[in-house]
Amino acid sequence: MKIISINAGSSSLKFKLFEMKDESVLASGLFERIGIEGSNYTIKYDGNKVSEQAEMPTHAEAVSILLNRLIDLDIIKSLDEIEGIGHRVVTGGEKYKQSVLIDNKVIKDVEDCIELAPLHNPANIIGINAFRKALPNVKMAAVFDTAFHQTMDPVSYLYPVPYAWYEDHKVRKYGAHGTSHMYIAEAIAKELKKDNLKVISCHLGNGGSISAIKDGKCVDTSMGFTPIAGIMMGTRSGDVDPSIIPYIMVKETKNASEVLEDLNKRSGFLGLSGISSDSRDIEKGISEGNERCILAQEKYVRTIVNYIAQYYVLLGGCDALVFTAGIGENSAETRKRVVEKLACLGFKMDLKANDVRGELRKLSTDDSKSLIYLIPTDEELMIARETVTLVKQNA
Ligand code: AMP
Repeated sequence: MKIISINAGSSSLKFKLFEMKDESVLASGLFERIGIEGSNYTIKYDGNKVSEQAEMPTHAEAVSILLNRLIDLDIIKSLDEIEGIGHRVVTGGEKYKQSVLIDNKVIKDVEDCIELAPLHNPANIIGINAFRKALPNVKMAAVFDTAFHQTMDPVSYLYPVPYAWYEDHKVRKYGAHGTSHMYIAEAIAKELKKDNLKVISCHLGNGGSISAIKDGKCVDTSMGFTPIAGIMMGTRSGDVDPSIIPYIMVKETKNASEVLEDLNKRSGFLGLSGISSDSRDIEKGISEGNERCILAQEKYVRTIVNYIAQYYVLLGGCDALVFTAGIGENSAETRKRVVEKLACLGFKMDLKANDVRGELRKLSTDDSKSLIYLIPTDEELMIARETVTLVKQNA
């Protein structure tokens, strides 16, 4: 069964085409600058790469080029081979606790959630509509980034604010990166051949979040009402005192959105280091003795360790601590620094094993109290797996 995973942004469309018999990737690619001058795309398949400029005033043209190229490049013989399309949808609010097949009602519900993800959900809907037009008979699934976190109980998801904010305005913790954390929960269970596990999943990318997972279900997660909350990130602050916002509004004559933009786009590694949002640049700065880079990395590690410690207590221990995403998979230094700070909980890293990038590996020593793993995440594959399940259930 061939399935396409789609991640549509406001001016981009990322795809992966899978053969689900063996979960192999037949093709992957990115359409960029849709609706902007200079639109272009790249498709990778079978060791080859095609990169071209093309007119793409809307997502519809990107979808049409994608489908035509899949045939011209002989990646598939006919569009009939595509049996399902899975779409990443950033938020399903409280309505969706799992992935669903897309119909008009689902699209309306995703529209109703736009105020919870004003940049992302409209783009996701544009992607869905473009594929609905191009392939009206193919079943499509919505895979929500928030769904995995819907198992949190009210003590985890409610903020201690006026209850009416929740009842009237949907203010609560929704979390994000759910598809990645779900992938990690399944992957570690498969690796350890055990379902009833206490797992702390650290998705450390440009955005970052940590989840406490018990028996495969999310108990708590670090991102909140929006993805700005939780640990420090590339450009996002993570948790800060909300009084800072009106204070800076007065001091810098800004409105609330502008200060929020500072917290989203000019904070984190970028804000503290003053150099870059990329942890590779921060590591380079540290090697050159840059004090602000040293500070940024220490703060980053501190916020991660704080959440891990919190979730260790919440779960009543930890069977496996898992690192994933860009930094979690590639930065041995960050993993080492985090685990060093967890020594009092009995975590011990095998430094030789930790000298690795992007492959599933046990990183803990045999006498570590908890297992430590690197597991590369694969959100696109998770979306494709969810799509297969729904397509089969509704065949
Ligand atoms: P993601 O958002 O998961 O794609 O992660 C992107 C981030 O991963 C980048 O911003 C980098 O900070 C980080 N990253 C990628 N490769 C490395 C590396 N070799 N060492 C340190 N950080 C890395």
